[in-house]
Amino acid sequence: MIHFGYGVMADATTDYDRNDRRIAEYLLEHEPSVNLCIGCGSCTAACSTGRMVEFNIRRLHTLIRRGETLKLKKEIMKCMFCGKCQLVCPRGVNLRNVILTINRALEQTG
Ligand code: SF4
Ligand code: SF4
Repeated sequence: MIHFGYGVMADATTDYDRNDRRIAEYLLEHEPSVNLCIGCGSCTAACSTGRMVEFNIRRLHTLIRRGETLKLKKEIMKCMFCGKCQLVCPRGVNLRNVILTINRALEQTG
């Protein structure tokens, strides 16, 4: 392998084989509309919480797919459950239920 003089930072890597996929699997089973997401970012742009603190609902999806449960727990607590994200979603993702289902999955997986 060629050495370019730099490497990949350990905390910037994603090991899909070792990460916890239980939340993603639970979410897909109980709220399959999450699969309709095209990552447009409208939910993030409309988010009430995102106007006051650093919070990005689209990022939650990335954390779930990567199985980064610890970061997910910290982030999801910021949601006020107002439902504005769901109102603007062009794909009809049931975002309020997505958030509820993630919370339920986190409770069940400890
Ligand atoms: S608004 Fe809907 S389609 Fe767009 S990123 Fe959010 S969940 Fe996905
Ligand atoms: S329900 Fe949560 S994620 Fe959606 S707009 Fe409201 S605060 Fe943001």
